[in-house]
Amino acid sequence: MAWRALGRKGVPASVSKAWTVSSKYSVASCGVQDSAKALSAAVRHLHGFCPAAALPTADKYLTFSGDRLLIRCFHATPELQISFTGDKSAGMKSKNTKGKFSKRKKEPKLAVETPYVPPRLKRAAKSLPDKTIEIFEGMSILELAKRCGESTTTIQNIIINVGEKADSEFDALSTDIAELVAMEVGVNVRRLHSDKGVRMVPRPPVVTVMGHVDHGKTSLLDALRQTSLAAKEAGGITQHLGAFVVGMQSGASITFLDTPGHAAFSAMRARGAAVTDVVVLVVAADDGVMPQTLEAMSHAKSANVPIVVAINKCDKTDANPERVKVQLASEGLLLEEMGGDVQVVEVSAVSKSGLDTLEDALLLQAEMMDLKARIDGPAQAYVVEARVDKGRGTLTTAIVKAGTLVCGQHVVVGSEWGRIRCIRDMAGEMIAQATPAMPVEIEGLKGLPMAGDDIVVVESEERARMLSEGRRKKKDKDRLVKLDEERQKLEEEMKVPEDEENEDEDDKARRDEKSKRVEVPIIVKADVQGTVQAVSDALKTLNSAQVVVKIIYAGVGPVTQSDVDMAQACDACVVGFNVRDPLGAVSQSASQAKIEIKLHRIIYHLLEDIGNMIVEKAPGTLETKVAGEAHVLSIFELKGRSKAKGDDVKIAGCRVIDGRFTKSATLRILRSGEVVFEGCCASLKREQQDVEAVGKGNECGLVIQDCSNFQVGDVIQCLEKVNRKPKFVSSESGAVRIEC
Ligand code: GDP
Repeated sequence: MAWRALGRKGVPASVSKAWTVSSKYSVASCGVQDSAKALSAAVRHLHGFCPAAALPTADKYLTFSGDRLLIRCFHATPELQISFTGDKSAGMKSKNTKGKFSKRKKEPKLAVETPYVPPRLKRAAKSLPDKTIEIFEGMSILELAKRCGESTTTIQNIIINVGEKADSEFDALSTDIAELVAMEVGVNVRRLHSDKGVRMVPRPPVVTVMGHVDHGKTSLLDALRQTSLAAKEAGGITQHLGAFVVGMQSGASITFLDTPGHAAFSAMRARGAAVTDVVVLVVAADDGVMPQTLEAMSHAKSANVPIVVAINKCDKTDANPERVKVQLASEGLLLEEMGGDVQVVEVSAVSKSGLDTLEDALLLQAEMMDLKARIDGPAQAYVVEARVDKGRGTLTTAIVKAGTLVCGQHVVVGSEWGRIRCIRDMAGEMIAQATPAMPVEIEGLKGLPMAGDDIVVVESEERARMLSEGRRKKKDKDRLVKLDEERQKLEEEMKVPEDEENEDEDDKARRDEKSKRVEVPIIVKADVQGTVQAVSDALKTLNSAQVVVKIIYAGVGPVTQSDVDMAQACDACVVGFNVRDPLGAVSQSASQAKIEIKLHRIIYHLLEDIGNMIVEKAPGTLETKVAGEAHVLSIFELKGRSKAKGDDVKIAGCRVIDGRFTKSATLRILRSGEVVFEGCCASLKREQQDVEAVGKGNECGLVIQDCSNFQVGDVIQCLEKVNRKPKFVSSESGAVRIEC
């Protein structure tokens, strides 16, 4: 990575530069403290091959043994290690070096934990964001090399630099090492988790509620939450944690994901998180199947997740559950009462009727699926939601899919890492470990993960740092590659073709439109990470040929002063979704800086608001519009005019039959429906008076520049250029777009 970027020549150069910089702290002549500073400075100068994460800790690894200074060099190649562990200071000039060339020891000691610096690959370091390989515990080096499309030697070299042994190409690798290698090669990975375990136990189903807007998903979840175990034990769940457990008298339980809607489901799936076992499809009995009902059905189908239908609002007088069933059946859902296997339950979230039946149906579905999970071994878990608490740091709601998550373990979550400081159950009680299908809140991550990120337990802090650093770098690299591709694509589109004259009018107009494309910079703040992602994605659906939404920053929490500062620097507007009002001082400074803060709690309202702002900012497209139409009733000719006044002039005496005529417009003559002339209006008069405009029903005399070809009966059209702005359009299903 950085080592490769530096190149072979670059390394000695950097080392000596680092040494020169540090020479003012001469190791030999100064005290121990100065020596530390010198080496610290040297280490910092080696930035080129010390990843950023290792740098702040570099000083920590400068330890003293009597007068001797020991440095543990992170992320340096073994060769570099060798040069640093020798007392003769890598053969470089120092006050201790007598000769010009100092001899290196042949068998230097390596640091105990070999640092990770990937080797120089023969081909260019190019990220392959589109290539994904599957990796699994115990895969051989040969297998990994084949999947990555690299030679085994290259893979072995990387493994050695990671600090692992790679004696034979048949050596088995851990999933972490396989991932590190794959990331270095530039491919994405999908971890295959083993279902096999020593102790398999039945586990509760994890359920997601989906359906059309306003059909009662949130109300149903609220009603179910009130029957929840935690609610009973803790006197009600006061805060939204992303998931809750409903316990039955039989001892069985169901885990509900508390974020209704399709965006959260899709976001989880997009990260490969197959958390949901069953989808509850909510359909309002008074409204029937609607576009988002069908969308939910297709989401569940593509994820291969069974559906249990909850026909809601059955308390309403106009409720018609039978009609809903027929509609669902006609959409291909094989309902149980029609001979299929999809259970249908009639419920009411308001009167709380049918909730028990729904829970029983879900348990029956789970029983049919024979849901089991390995309870021992390392945990496989997914993030449901994450937020930052001022006192407790990052709080991550997770659902364990297999194994046991134990307090104190080191984990890597997406590109974040941490040591689990504390695990709490949904009642807020501290627990030592979490078992399958149990939603828990964990503390201790260094940064905020995303909904759907997998939680991987690793053996040490060092491995956790390494993996998260690798993932972050891979993410950055992919992002840069993508940006570069987008830039190249844009340049390509904007390029003026060599035969510009022969260019199609439409192509020219499209090119012009793109060159005028306006960017709308937006800062997004929301209550939890999952929402941040969903809001950012939803805002991007407003991109159009004329305006592009550019998310400058997206984060969790209320709108702060630094958001306002950032907005001011980028001329952005700040969007707050489901967050509390900003502090008075923040609002004041925003209004002083003329920064708009748009706070919303309903996604549609937010999109409508931003959509209208986009429409306003859009440059629009110039279009020709027929503003008026007139009939030629008679022709007058002005003859014998003086030279100074110009040639003879033909005047068309007309009556405006539609719209209005303006002097600044272009006029078009139509004869038998065919255009015979088009030109500028040279004169427009009403009863000998020059006028600027003539309205419908009035007579006028008009002269068209360079035209003497009028005939009685001709139709004259008044053409005006208008700037047509795009339109904010919303469909019945709640989907929105900007139509240009
Ligand atoms: P969501 O958009 O699907 O989450 O729908 P909500 O839960 O926000 O409900 C939309 C509206 O339907 C709210 O006004 C609810 O009070 C109402 N509603 C939800 N469930 C029921 C029900 O079972 N009966 C009746 N009568 N109204 C309901």
